[in-house]
Amino acid sequence: MFFFFVGGLEQQVLQVLKSGAGKCINCGSRADLVDYEKVLKLFFVPVWRWPGKEPLMHCPDCFLFFPPPTRTGPLLDVLRCASCGRPVESNFRFCPFCGSAL
Ligand SMILES: [Zn+2]
Ligand SMILES: [Zn+2]
Repeated sequence: MFFFFVGGLEQQVLQVLKSGAGKCINCGSRADLVDYEKVLKLFFVPVWRWPGKEPLMHCPDCFLFFPPPTRTGPLLDVLRCASCGRPVESNFRFCPFCGSAL
């Protein structure tokens, strides 16, 4: 007897945080920044769902989820050291001014 696993993990949009926040990496149309949830489906019935940890980008045209642009993107501010407040390159692990971990 065969066991067919007719299920899978899907991601669904919970709410749109910022409409048109970026571009789809697949089709190039407007993508939204969204909160999402993961849904485990078995025989097409949702059996378990839990919220995603971080917002994702979602393209309403091709239904693609992808990570938002990195911190170096124009959307986000320059990273600042938490202890001395000076702007620091986002790929640094330690603040070059005061040496604290970022
Ligand atoms: Zn797309
Ligand atoms: Zn510092």
